[in-house]
Amino acid sequence: MGEQQDTCVLCDSGDIKKIVSSFSLSKKQTINKKEVGSEVKKYIEETREEVREEKKRLSSQIIE
Ligand SMILES: [Zn+2]
Repeated sequence: MGEQQDTCVLCDSGDIKKIVSSFSLSKKQTINKKEVGSEVKKYIEETREEVREEKKRLSSQIIE
């Protein structure tokens, strides 16, 4: 299933811009167009950490 994201990963806004993270994340992130900036970079970095934690958590869960 394609994991289509059409809301901002930061604030759930629908007015988004798709960006490809230059970090280790290979999947596309979507962020509010207005949020493009250094502040967002910082936020994305934090989000990346969260995603990493999330993945860790998910992968450690037994799915039936
Ligand atoms: Zn946002």
